[in-house]
Amino acid sequence: MTKHVYFFGGGQAEGDGSMRDLLGGKGAGLAEMNRLGAPVPPGFTITTEACTLYMRGGGKLPPEVEKEESAGLARLERTMGKRLGDPEDPLLVSVRSGAKFSMPGMMDTILNLGLNDRSVEGLARRTGNRRFASDSYRRFIQMFGNVVLGIDKGLFEHELEALKQARGVEKDVDLGAEDLAGLMPRFKEIVRRESGADFPADPYLQLRMARDAVFKSWNNKRARDYRAMNRIPDDLGTAVNVQAMVFGNLGPTSGTGVGFTRNPDTGAKEFYGEFLLNAQGEDVVAGTRTPMPIAELERVMPEVARELKELTGRLERHYREMQDFEFTIEEGKLWLLQTRAGKRSGRAAVKIAVDMEGEALISRDEALLRVSPENIDQCLHPSIDPKEKFEVLATGIAASPGAAVGAVVFSAAEAVAEAKGGKAVILVRRETNPDDILGMQAARGILTATGGKTSHAAVVGRGMGKVCVVGCTALVVHEDEGYFEVHGRRFKRGDVITIDGTTGRVIDRAVKLRSAELTHELRTLLAWADEVRALRVRTNADTPEDAAKARAFGAEGIGLCRTEHMFFGQERLPKMQEVVLHAAEAKRHERTIAARRDALGDARTESERKRLGEELARLEAAAREPIERYRKALAALMPYQKEDFRGILRAMAGLPVTIRTLDPPMHEFLPRREELLVEIALSETRGESGPALAERKALLEQVESLHELNPMLGHRGCRLGISYPEITEMQARAIFEAACELKREGVEAVPEVMIPLVGHVEELKREAEVVRRVAEETIARTGARVKYLIGTMIEVPRAALTAGAIAGAADFFSFGTNDLTQMTYGYSRDDSGKFLPFYIEEKILPADPFTTLDVEGVGRLIHLAVEEGRRARPNLKVGICGEHGGDPATIAFCAAENLDYVSCSPFRVPVARLAAAQAVLRGRKAPEPVAAV
Ligand code: ADP
Ligand code: MG
Ligand code: MG
Repeated sequence: MTKHVYFFGGGQAEGDGSMRDLLGGKGAGLAEMNRLGAPVPPGFTITTEACTLYMRGGGKLPPEVEKEESAGLARLERTMGKRLGDPEDPLLVSVRSGAKFSMPGMMDTILNLGLNDRSVEGLARRTGNRRFASDSYRRFIQMFGNVVLGIDKGLFEHELEALKQARGVEKDVDLGAEDLAGLMPRFKEIVRRESGADFPADPYLQLRMARDAVFKSWNNKRARDYRAMNRIPDDLGTAVNVQAMVFGNLGPTSGTGVGFTRNPDTGAKEFYGEFLLNAQGEDVVAGTRTPMPIAELERVMPEVARELKELTGRLERHYREMQDFEFTIEEGKLWLLQTRAGKRSGRAAVKIAVDMEGEALISRDEALLRVSPENIDQCLHPSIDPKEKFEVLATGIAASPGAAVGAVVFSAAEAVAEAKGGKAVILVRRETNPDDILGMQAARGILTATGGKTSHAAVVGRGMGKVCVVGCTALVVHEDEGYFEVHGRRFKRGDVITIDGTTGRVIDRAVKLRSAELTHELRTLLAWADEVRALRVRTNADTPEDAAKARAFGAEGIGLCRTEHMFFGQERLPKMQEVVLHAAEAKRHERTIAARRDALGDARTESERKRLGEELARLEAAAREPIERYRKALAALMPYQKEDFRGILRAMAGLPVTIRTLDPPMHEFLPRREELLVEIALSETRGESGPALAERKALLEQVESLHELNPMLGHRGCRLGISYPEITEMQARAIFEAACELKREGVEAVPEVMIPLVGHVEELKREAEVVRRVAEETIARTGARVKYLIGTMIEVPRAALTAGAIAGAADFFSFGTNDLTQMTYGYSRDDSGKFLPFYIEEKILPADPFTTLDVEGVGRLIHLAVEEGRRARPNLKVGICGEHGGDPATIAFCAAENLDYVSCSPFRVPVARLAAAQAVLRGRKAPEPVAAV
């Protein structure tokens, strides 16, 4: 027969710590503590299976379980030498819920069950403390009324307040026994009125009702929502713990408290916690009275303090894990009521894991598995000091972690100007665009009113490691007027705010932050991770500063260096605009000339040849200037690019640097059409003319001619380089001149040139040819023996499907998972905010495919491409870049697919190092979500 009730008490227990499934976390902990000989009030646990039976029985327990429960209660009564609610000397119990995973939202604990009008007298006589008895009774009716009968707490509170006022006292503790006793009839009246029945006086009925309420609470809305959010199955059920009461509110030698075996904030090995004298149960956490630090216990009750420390230390060694415990002192005697793995901050998690390895409590592998990637992430960003108290002004989407304090600015230019003067600023905008890059770089944090986790602000912010909150819809931003409004409050330029990109909170003033650091413990843990992992970790970095930062975080090269950022900025952008402007014109000339040349070749008669020849000469003469302009514009940009590459290659000396050739559509470098129209109209009304206006008009014409309906699927990526090979050539020259110069200076530069958006092998071949020609020329000219690779991004599904052919022309593949996801799903990343959140909420998709790789679809393409690519070229290097490179679940997938590396933003590098090690330790199976401790 299956057992449904497990007894514990007096150093014995039918269950044990391993039975969390059946007894719940709390029940298993109580059983295990008993086995270890800790002083725990006796009781019994009704299993989670009984909960399932109760549900299936439509709110009824099978009779054999009821019988088992009665036997359990009888045993408890025998052990205690008292009967539940006995009028002479009542046994009182607590009824506590407890599922496998600690779950907020379940039923609150009921204390003092077993009291009624008669047993309260017995309790008063036995303890010689009438006030205590009345107070316990009052609390019980209140708790039972609220939790079991669903009566509004406020109704009871209201009566209590009225009484205090009538007595002219402020605190509950100032009410006497008589006062409290006088409250009882009123409380019972509330119960009668609200529930339509008398307060149940029968202790056994009280117990059954409380037990059923616990079972039912498994399916209340809060609990269901919590399970859905944390992917906890709905059929686990909760256990019920019925346990003899011990009293912390019997007088000055009694008390109750909570504590941790180590500091949960810093991880330091010190006894940590709080307690209250003459208090019961939740008083400590309720915040109605200010608790004392546990160190104080050593002064008032040194014996008890010593015992508590010794006991919980033993529990920690036994569980080999930091413990969070609850205790009660009843007239000088210590009781333990709960122990469990303690929740902790990221840095505490790291310190505790490393310390415990040092104390030989856990192995290195265990230490690595004890720390979650989120823990590491937390360690690397400044955060709001947990001691700070504040109100939240508004909450947006947490897009890039960390907290930042700064003065509000509304434009990139302002951000740059203010930051130059050393001021900390927060860039607040409706949304950001590529023109804001420098402002974003200069700001401490970015706050936008619109956009989701993959908006421009979010992606770029994350890449830069900037604190970023997006989609804060309560914000109404008036950028031009220089203020924003939230709930009717106005914040001007210069007002100081705090934003928290870890939680999405916005605060209306400066709060104290705690800075991030790569602590000794974190370095140690990551070094262990490096020994375990097979996957290399590179970074996505576009500047020498980012490259250096990433290297300090342990990056083993750059997996994606985008070059388009290098064309922004006051000096460069106009030069880039020249290139864009002249490129098209030069191409037009080239095309007509080529056509004429063909015609000349086909000419039959001498006169025709002559005519065409003259025409060709004319055309060539006319083309000379525009082509020269184009060439010059490109030549003007080259030194900038070269300087950038020198910086980046130097920062990554000895390590590979994957540089992607130009990718975004050309129009991104030009001003917006509307802006130009306004500008031109304004200067015309002012009667202006001259070259400046003509230039604006030419620009407008170009902007209009570059207009595309679907720019993301338009003229971009290698398609640009194929139309304008001179651009690819200029970039290749900048790369190889930089590399060769460095090499001659004794710096090992290892460039890997990556062609974006290839869909057909022919595209790659043409681009690779240009790059290789320039590389060989430069190497030959300088005599610097630079080793280099030429490869491609796999981000168009067709490339993945024809990977075998493409590998014939590529030294490496790098999966650009952002575009690959975008194109595999056919979701525009920039527009998916309109439907993806709904899809995820409605469980149409299990997760945001732009955050965690869609293994079934996109992953399948990757698998296929890796297989066919490596078959065609066994030494093909394969990695991924893109947002997914720093996502632990994606990293586990990459490890299983035997990729060579992942590449992620600098701040994700340490996270990826740990995740890659955990992937090895967990074997090839999909990683389990790290259970909340
Ligand atoms: P939670 O899961 O919310 O912590 P608990 O069941 O642990 O709920 O209990 C709530 C409070 O009641 C805690 O302070 C706990 O120590 C106290 N408590 C629970 N059972 C008893 C008991 N038998 N005697 C005294 N205090 C108890
Ligand atoms: Mg508890
Ligand atoms: Mg791409």
